[in-house]
Order: sequence, then C-alpha cells, then structure tokens
Amino acid sequence: MFTYLIFATNNQHKVNEIRTVLQNKFEIVTLKEGGIFIDIPEPHPTLEENAREKSTTIYSLTGKNCFSEDTGLEVMALNGEPGVRSARYAGDDNDSAGNVKKLLQNMGGEQNRTAQFRTVISLLLDGAEYQFEGICEGRITSEPAGDRGFGYDPVFVPEGSDKTFAQMTMDEKNLFSHRKKATIKFAHFLKEYYGKDKS
Ligand code: IMP
Repeated sequence: MFTYLIFATNNQHKVNEIRTVLQNKFEIVTLKEGGIFIDIPEPHPTLEENAREKSTTIYSLTGKNCFSEDTGLEVMALNGEPGVRSARYAGDDNDSAGNVKKLLQNMGGEQNRTAQFRTVISLLLDGAEYQFEGICEGRITSEPAGDRGFGYDPVFVPEGSDKTFAQMTMDEKNLFSHRKKATIKFAHFLKEYYGKDKS
C-alpha cells in the first residue's frame, strides 16, 4: 500500500505532528511542497465545516485526494470560547502570543480552568468526505510555561500530566494530543479503505 495525500495546511507544526504519528506509512505532501500557495479561509461557525471547506477547496483545485484539519481550544468557563475562533481570538492581525494573552486576561482569577482541545480531520478520498475527531481534556494554567510547540501550548496542561504542551517534546505531546487521537482514527480508516481492493 502506498498512499499519497495532500495535507491542506500551511502550519509546519501540524505537519510534523501528523507525520510523526503516520510515520512513513502514507506520503503526506504539504501545500507548499505541492506548489499550492493559498491561504484557505475559515469562515464557518464550526470546526467540522471549516475543515470541510479546506479539504474541498484543495480537492476542487487539484482533483487529488487530500485532507485538512481544524482545531479549537474550548474553555468551559468561557462557554466553549475561543473554540472555532481560536486562531483569530485576539483579532485578525494577532499572533499566538496575542491570543494567549487575551485568553489569560479573559480567564482572570477564574477557578474552573477546565478546557479541551478538539481536532476535526476532513478527508476527501475519491470524491467522498470522511471526518475524524480527537479530543484532549486538560486545564488552562495561570501563566505561560515552556517554549516548544505552538499556539496555546504554553498555557495548556493535559489531564494526566503536570507539564504544559510547550514543556513537552513532540513525542510526549503525542501521548495526549487531540491531533494524534484524530490522526490514529484517520490512519485506521485509510488502512481499511486501501486494504480492501483499492491499493
Ligand atoms: P487552526 O486549526 O489552524 O485554525 O488553529 C486554531 C488555533 O488553535 C491557532 O491559533 C493555533 O495556533 C491553535 N492550535 C491548533 N492546534 C494547537 C495545538 O495542538 N496546540 C496549541 N494550539 C493549537
């Protein structure tokens, strides 16, 4: 079995995490490696719809099998915010540092720090769409710690650990990660799909 899939992302951290999980069982080609230089919008109110938007955009453009993922940080005390707006939480011109700052400000001295990362992978395979979800429960710290990873990693401690994701190696993060959980389901699906008669 040899599967070539375009990963509809420009986020190299996501690519590295997913490649680590899939190892070399599938060939993952990023947008940049495929010579596709676009920034796909995320205009919808759910992770599911935004993930679908990204995979269908690339499928329409290339006609090739592809997948995308959309992730949100859902904080209980903020009624699920920033959620689908995680990337633009502090405004369109802000970066991860701005988003983290706004999150900590909005949390203030809130005692309930419960939160979860949720990833939705959308796979467009031979014209049909399939989705896979991964959730990592944890809590928001009162200040950032660690310099690895990306996004909200410095303020998120997964259940079962006392380190933030940004204090972990990628292998450690992958013991807990929402993205890893979704990717494992995705990989099992691909193995089944190609195992039947389509390899
Ligand atoms: P998107 O899936 O690229 O739209 O990401 C939404 C937001 O969540 C961005 O600000 C990312 O930096 C952040 N994000 C996505 N995945 C993770 C993660 O695994 N750890 C920390 N932040 C993340």
